[in-house]
Amino acid sequence: MQQRKKYRRKPPMNKNINRNTFIKISSLAIAAMAVPLSLKTFATMHTTTEKNQFDVIIIGGSYAGLSAAMALGRSLRKVLVIDHGQACNRYTPHSHNFITHDGAEPAAIAQKARAEVLQYDTVTFLEAEAVSARALERGFEIGTREGTWLSAKKLIFATGIKDIFPDPEGFEACWGKTIIHCPYCHGYEFRGKKTAIWADGDRALHLAGLVHNLSKDISIISQNKAGFKQEQLEKLQQHRIPFMDKTVKSIIHENGSVRKLVFEDGHEEHFDAVYAALPFRQQSAVPEALGCELTESGHIKVDAFQKTAVPGIYACGDNSSMMRSVANAVYTGNLSGAMVNHELSQESF
Ligand SMILES: Cc1cc2nc3c(=O)[nH]c(=O)nc-3n(C[C@H](O)[C@H](O)[C@H](O)COP(=O)(O)OP(=O)(O)OC[C@H]3O[C@@H](n4cnc5c(N)ncnc54)[C@H](O)[C@@H]3O)c2cc1C
Repeated sequence: MQQRKKYRRKPPMNKNINRNTFIKISSLAIAAMAVPLSLKTFATMHTTTEKNQFDVIIIGGSYAGLSAAMALGRSLRKVLVIDHGQACNRYTPHSHNFITHDGAEPAAIAQKARAEVLQYDTVTFLEAEAVSARALERGFEIGTREGTWLSAKKLIFATGIKDIFPDPEGFEACWGKTIIHCPYCHGYEFRGKKTAIWADGDRALHLAGLVHNLSKDISIISQNKAGFKQEQLEKLQQHRIPFMDKTVKSIIHENGSVRKLVFEDGHEEHFDAVYAALPFRQQSAVPEALGCELTESGHIKVDAFQKTAVPGIYACGDNSSMMRSVANAVYTGNLSGAMVNHELSQESF
């Protein structure tokens, strides 16, 4: 009963800022309640003081970070979530394959998660970019682009990855709409459609195997680097999957709906959907700067409990997993929140 009273629902506007912390440290608190003062202002007004000290700082406040924050908020941990609004799926109008939110707008899922997490009084959300970090004797400090330093006993990186778009004009406009990365997320919507797989080598074969169940009208666009082995060529032949080993020059589209791929040799071909296996990089360089190791694939190396190679630092979501989905981000975030809480409990018990 007591618990319920403490975490009663509040309008989301007030909950963008941890009220208790804010009221204590600022004489402008009353004004801040009246106008939606930006959290950037909050941060720059108050440089390193004990008010800037947290049990846990989570960098990245999308699905993975918010999921970690919920586990920690419910454990009464003083948590700061720092986020600069660059979730990787912001290009797509509808997110699929996450139970209870199938077909929802990506931002709507994140907004609902944020409102739920901010019901817990010990959780604060800061709209800022974490750009630097240093290890302390006990814990860590994180610096924002605005020059504020914030400290915590533990860190969780939920920073995601950044897709590196290829050159052809029109690619970015279609990304997440008709140029897609994952059959589970968007394949159903293009079932039976004329489909291209923009990939080479093993990746192309892997995608072809998955997509073949959704459409029999598939072509591989291997961009002059097919690199197929004999048995792969035989498999493609067996399933009547042609491949065009030539470079795409541009993409003709209408508001993100692909109409045609235009090749450098002048050939044009109509497709309804294109799967693209893109290279990526970590969205934030801060984990590596603190000594977190990367795997060969470019993900942050974590153990089965989301622990990185650096004691006290955890990572979750896309930055540390090949399984790229909202569900996996939520799962690994939840796990890292629980593991960090466990570590803090062990240290003080
Ligand atoms: C186009 C597209 C469509 C997709 N569609 C689906 C789908 O339909 N269904 C599905 O399940 N999955 C889908 N996915 C995959 C899904 O979006 C990701 O798996 C999921 O977003 C990963 O969550 P995350 O929290 O790990 O990272 P993200 O959602 O990418 O969020 C990372 C967050 O960290 C923040 N951040 C990073 N660095 C810093 C920093 N230094 N300081 C402050 N903040 C920082 C960013 O601002 C961002 O908000 C899609 C992906 C893409 C690219």
